[in-house]
Amino acid sequence: MTEDADWTGGCLCGKRRYRFARPPSTSGYCHCSMCRRATGGPFAVLVRVDEDDLEWLSEPPATFRSSPIAKRGFCPDCGTPLFLRYDDDDRIRLTAGSLDHPERITPSYNYGIESRLPWVCYDDDLPGQPTQERF
Ligand SMILES: [Zn+2]
Ligand SMILES: [Zn+2]
Repeated sequence: MTEDADWTGGCLCGKRRYRFARPPSTSGYCHCSMCRRATGGPFAVLVRVDEDDLEWLSEPPATFRSSPIAKRGFCPDCGTPLFLRYDDDDRIRLTAGSLDHPERITPSYNYGIESRLPWVCYDDDLPGQPTQERF
């Protein structure tokens, strides 16, 4: 896939889809407790895109005010968290997990490290297993 190929993503049920043309300006981990709850994971990986570059290919996501300075967007049908947007920033932070090809990004920073969980690690020597269809 080339650098200038379209970037696409969407929610789990497929009813909310987006596209942007330019590579994200940056992406990184956020360990803050709000991202933890909003994603249901130990941290969020957020991908910054100029809002002008982002196009919703479906109805836009539902939003809620997650703090006095930011809103978050999610699919109202399946609940997938899709973005974080600060009121005074014209960049939108998409959830990396909603990208169709999250392997194309390289997270370059950690944010909210005071909230980083002690058991979050990236050790390759832990036992690994691919995602299973059924347990
Ligand atoms: Zn959905
Ligand atoms: Zn956060």
